[in-house]
Amino acid sequence: MNIVIFGPPGAGKGTQSKFIVNKFNLYQLSTGDLLRNEIKNKTPLGSKISSTINSGELVSDKIVNDLIEKFISNDNYKNKIIFDGYPRNLKQAHNLNELLNKYDQKIDLVLKLSVSLETIKKRILQRQTIENRDDDSEEIAIKRYKTYERSTEPVIEYYKQLNLLKAIDGERSIDQINKEISDIISLI
Ligand code: AMP
Repeated sequence: MNIVIFGPPGAGKGTQSKFIVNKFNLYQLSTGDLLRNEIKNKTPLGSKISSTINSGELVSDKIVNDLIEKFISNDNYKNKIIFDGYPRNLKQAHNLNELLNKYDQKIDLVLKLSVSLETIKKRILQRQTIENRDDDSEEIAIKRYKTYERSTEPVIEYYKQLNLLKAIDGERSIDQINKEISDIISLI
């Protein structure tokens, strides 16, 4: 089973992905984590993308498309991926379809965590004290939220048309959301 999880920054995508990974024995493919690792390890790619990430904009499609193919083509992860942070725009969604087709796979479920901008601001400020991410200031969080609305909301609509989408109220407690997601996945 392959799953895509959507949600604005601070919606709990990362937390819920980790829970799903453990419970259903999947692999979390977080493009944000992969990109942050490049920056942390001071690779040439890392220095190329750091200012884009820190400004709350998206990095180029080519960069993330190349990153995800490495995982989709790997037999160890076949039909076991939860895509966290990809696709972020319609071009990436089409690329994901092509890649999954190429490796004889498909998307089985798309989850969307909905959270208000007010909640996001609060959670991002909390996360800032724990993770110390450079892109977690309130100003950049709002920018990332706007990028999400502009580029990513159309992708969610696309999956809705394909009848793959399940919307989840992300304002509730982590446990309540865990339970709802488990129930949905267990029915697939
Ligand atoms: P995230 O951890 O998913 O919130 O991602 C952090 C940042 O990494 C984003 O604000 C983007 O700059 C970049 N990023 C992550 N995934 C993608 C993607 N699929 N396409 C373009 N940029 C991405």
